Amino acid sequence: MSGVPTVTLNNGVAMPQLGFGVFQVPEDETVAAVTSALETGYRSIDTAAIYGNEAGVGIALEKSGIPHDELFVTTKVWNADQGYDKTLAAFDASLEKLRLERIDLYLIHWPTPARELYVDTWKALNKLLGDGRVRAIGVSNFQESHLRRVIDEVGVVPSVNQIELHPLLQQEKLRAVHAELGVRTEAWSPLGQGGDLLKNPVLAEIAAKHGRSTAQVVLRWHLQLGNVVIPKSVTPERIAENFDVFGFELDAADIERIATLNQNGRIGPDPDEFNAA
Ligand code: NAD
Repeated sequence: MSGVPTVTLNNGVAMPQLGFGVFQVPEDETVAAVTSALETGYRSIDTAAIYGNEAGVGIALEKSGIPHDELFVTTKVWNADQGYDKTLAAFDASLEKLRLERIDLYLIHWPTPARELYVDTWKALNKLLGDGRVRAIGVSNFQESHLRRVIDEVGVVPSVNQIELHPLLQQEKLRAVHAELGVRTEAWSPLGQGGDLLKNPVLAEIAAKHGRSTAQVVLRWHLQLGNVVIPKSVTPERIAENFDVFGFELDAADIERIATLNQNGRIGPDPDEFNAA
């Protein structure tokens, strides 16, 4: 897939380690952004029902003429659609908007633990997997307790947990749990949503040393940790910059310096507390 390395998920499916995220991309800009990403060489696209842009993703994929078996498409069931039957219906709706026959990776978007529905939702994802309608299934924003509960009660280990992860929130404990359980770590907001992180002086020094941008240094850090990453941009130059991260390598000293930046700096909601439907 365009020279992007793949990681092998726990059910044997290969997933590109670098993909393109479309959170907060308005529906009318989505076709252009995804088209630009596909032209750059990205083959993995990360959307979600709640982003309201699955239809735009579907149009861009169809327009590209790229066969589906060269693509990797992820979408997510929204909180309001959790529960066994509702999830199966939500999956059908997503599939239709995306103009696809099957989805490569389907995720539970948030556990919303107080609503007590994520185990039934996980059962529905297993049904979709068993029926061959999705190639791999996983979760997002699951904490250790949520992961262990679905594994204990359903007996199936999620292939992926997509979590907030960047140098200000390094998630070492959860990454260690993933390694123990065989769950692949996927980083959302890998660039810290482009905020202060990209102006960090330590990252700026490392970037200068390699003749790269701070965004490229952060993406390289993720890749060298083994994370799957899905940076987002609607600017073609940045879409290309974020893809050009395979021609250099951070050394051990760089990695050690980046490790010191962790400050549990969460941007998004706390998954134990977020129960919105
Ligand atoms: P991100 O960390 O990818 O940052 C994106 C922002 O960074 C852009 O809007 C832009 O302002 C800036 N940026 C991008 N490339 C840049 C560059 N080269 N130089 C300078 N600035 C640059 O943030 P994100 O969009 O929140 O996360 C990426 C993807 O993760 C999303 O699009 C979505 O697919 C996924 N996501 C998932 C969840 C979840 O709950 N599962 C939550 C948030 C995001």
